Amino acid sequence: MKTTFSPAQLEDVQMRTSEKILRSCVHCGFCTATCPTYLLEGDELDSPRGRIYLIKDMLEGGKPATPEVVKHIDRCLSCLSCMTTCPSGVHYMHLVDHARAHIEKTYHRPFGQRLMRNILAAVLPYRERFRFALAAAFFAKPLAPVVGALPGIGPSMRSMLKLAPARFALREAVPADVAATRRVIILEGCAQPVLRPSINAAARRLLARHGIGVVTPKGEGCCGALVHHMGREEAALDFARANIDAWCAELDRGAEAILITASGCGTSVKDYGFLLREDEAYADKAARVSAATRDITEFVLSLPALKPVRTTGQIVAYHSACSMQHGQKITDGPKRLLRDAGFQLRDVPEGHICCGSAGTYNILQPDFADRLRARKVSNIERVKPQIIATGNIGCITQIAQGTAIPIVHTVELLDWASGGPAPVELAL
Ligand code: SF4
Ligand code: SF4
Repeated sequence: MKTTFSPAQLEDVQMRTSEKILRSCVHCGFCTATCPTYLLEGDELDSPRGRIYLIKDMLEGGKPATPEVVKHIDRCLSCLSCMTTCPSGVHYMHLVDHARAHIEKTYHRPFGQRLMRNILAAVLPYRERFRFALAAAFFAKPLAPVVGALPGIGPSMRSMLKLAPARFALREAVPADVAATRRVIILEGCAQPVLRPSINAAARRLLARHGIGVVTPKGEGCCGALVHHMGREEAALDFARANIDAWCAELDRGAEAILITASGCGTSVKDYGFLLREDEAYADKAARVSAATRDITEFVLSLPALKPVRTTGQIVAYHSACSMQHGQKITDGPKRLLRDAGFQLRDVPEGHICCGSAGTYNILQPDFADRLRARKVSNIERVKPQIIATGNIGCITQIAQGTAIPIVHTVELLDWASGGPAPVELAL
């Protein structure tokens, strides 16, 4: 794609990066076929190619974002399906991240949108605030129809109440770190330990069976993805720097990897090296952290296989989160682990299409998210599974709203097969 950025504009490193990405797009349109929002709307402006044109026009012209651009960029899930499809290697993720940051700086959102985004940014990345908010949402669930009628923020509030689980831990039991010769870091994260503390507990038990201890460095927190996807770049970088400080100290003490059990966070942490490439104090440390980061299934695959200690055999539909398959290009590994543990795997039709979760998307774009969930659930139910497995808490929360089939994290099934307790969702 031809671009006409001025030399002055190209002095900015982010603009240079985006210009390079834009130039790599040959507008072939292959990406439209696998874009969830294009499949729903059939509108070129809701396709990757259409968005790329909008972003090019906005950045090249040095223009503030218009309501039209904001509408179509907001509708993008950042599912990155377009990156998997694109034959020219267009790095859409970095381009849309730049566009979102530009929108955040130049566009004045209506009051309702600003309020909702501020609430999400102030609550979701902080575990205790999120726990408190979930408790409040639990009691407010019956008010969803009333709240949903509020002007501006109603649909997002209703969606938030619907997504709040009927069961969550007011206080989680934090397992003690295990001393062992081999040690890894596990990102505890922000929302996941509140919604499903059982996931990291299962990961810890599984690793312990391999003789590997887990450390939780003080000072780590949210990976930053939630605010980053809202265009709040500086806030995201602050989260990244805090994690890098905490993790590098532990890597220096001999931890061999940083394991992530939520693929949305994994995609983000693996990109720290890029995000902080111009930060003199953090560039090297960020690259080190990204290089040491693995999804839990990547790491478990590198270990000797554990023999299943119980009969499994259940039919499992594996839902590959977008951040797993498109963001991190992890496709077969989790399925291989589940098969080796004795489960019968079923591939989900249209497995490359997003379930509509996408961080805060299912709150900020509830209509698109609901339609994508319905499509995903219908595809999953077609293969008649007894269990759904996935590697991302966002997808678990989203899909669970649309089906009675229990949905659990891959690592919970691996832990169960190798001697851990049955996931509570299977016992219900
Ligand atoms: S597939 Fe790639 S090169 Fe083709 S239009 Fe989409 S982003 Fe551009
Ligand atoms: S990230 Fe997903 S929703 Fe956004 S343009 Fe690409 S395929 Fe479409």
